[in-house]
Amino acid sequence: MKTIFKNISIITQDKNSAIIKRGFIVVENEKILKVCSGKFKVKNNKNNTIINGQGKIAIPGLINSHIHLGESAFPFFLPLKYSLEKYLYLTEKLIKDHPEFETYRNVISDYSILLSLKSGTTTIAGGRVHDSAQKWGVRYISGIMVMNSDKLRKFYNKTDEDIKKMKKEISMDLGSLAIFIHSLPFIDKNKINEISKIKKTNKTLPIFIHFLETKKERDSIKKYWHKSPIKILKEAKLFNKYTHLIHCNWVTKKELQNIIESGCNIIQCPSTNIIVDNKILDLKEIIENNGRVSIATDGLSTGKSLNLLKEAKTAYEYHNRKKETMSAKNIFDLITIEASKNLKLNKKIGSLEVNKKADIAFLDNKININSYNLYKDIINNGRISGVMINGKLIIWNNKVIKKLFSEQNIKKKFKSLIRKIKSSPTTEERLNKLK
Ligand SMILES: [Zn+2]
Repeated sequence: MKTIFKNISIITQDKNSAIIKRGFIVVENEKILKVCSGKFKVKNNKNNTIINGQGKIAIPGLINSHIHLGESAFPFFLPLKYSLEKYLYLTEKLIKDHPEFETYRNVISDYSILLSLKSGTTTIAGGRVHDSAQKWGVRYISGIMVMNSDKLRKFYNKTDEDIKKMKKEISMDLGSLAIFIHSLPFIDKNKINEISKIKKTNKTLPIFIHFLETKKERDSIKKYWHKSPIKILKEAKLFNKYTHLIHCNWVTKKELQNIIESGCNIIQCPSTNIIVDNKILDLKEIIENNGRVSIATDGLSTGKSLNLLKEAKTAYEYHNRKKETMSAKNIFDLITIEASKNLKLNKKIGSLEVNKKADIAFLDNKININSYNLYKDIINNGRISGVMINGKLIIWNNKVIKKLFSEQNIKKKFKSLIRKIKSSPTTEERLNKLK
């Protein structure tokens, strides 16, 4: 069975950054069969679905290299007065001791995925996203969460066993496995040795780690490890192109250079980084030095939204606040083709080319393909009205395809949950009991 999008503009993000002003895309099963300019000659085949893309622009499905889903629930329950470790401890304990929190977390995960899809994201990477991603048919990288500081140890202490279990759960079609180390202050020496051992026989297994997000983090690392953060990763043989360093806001110039040379991927979350520290790294400098960098949203507990185009806009405005130093195209690459290279998924996704998986986002008719500022228009004003993942159309003309799930239901559940939490007198009591 084929799906054909005809009369459509296409931003391919292939190696020539080709733009097709009017053409068609043929999708067969989960793959792209043709990306062509010109008119589609209709053949009389009832098995094919022909969709008129008049006025729309097809772009590669956006890739969010760092997201949290269900964790977004907790700011509604937990006052921000707690330290990060205490906060993580309480969230784990809430889930363990009050089963209804697992249900809450699912409602919020569904809502987060809906927001992601509606803004054109087709691939997400995050510690515990696989259940929701699988349910919704979103491409994902997910896996084991590792946090084993004194307080957090009892929730996470079986990395090896968990990997075996998780390997079975990850769908081959859409998913791939990774290890998510929360951050260096929340992991001990034994655990990092254990991960190092696992990596010996799984060299390409990706490692994601929040890295030097805050000054406090840097101070805690110094206190516990008595070593520089990069030395810790180097000694564990985790300082290479399969490691993704999230944030990196407190790296020194020399450390940044070391990271660039190592091939590690830097994941910047502009809104979060600006909220936390009022700065983001100089993305242009990283790119010019052949470093790897992607843009992501982070979760709703810290970030402003799960809309990657908005994150791109934030990065663009930040870099060009005095004069234009970074082009919108450069930034658009960091949520499409460059993000796919950094995640080692570029054979499958990141551009609209023959034989790649059909992960496509469709911009509505607000953007003019002939504009001189096309990429700037897209990150400033682009609105997504359709999404296809792995050859399956999930949203078209702003409507979630009904058979898959009900958008209204998800929003309704989310709203009533928030109302319930806000009017609940018991949250504080529960927390007091848990402490
Ligand atoms: Zn994060």
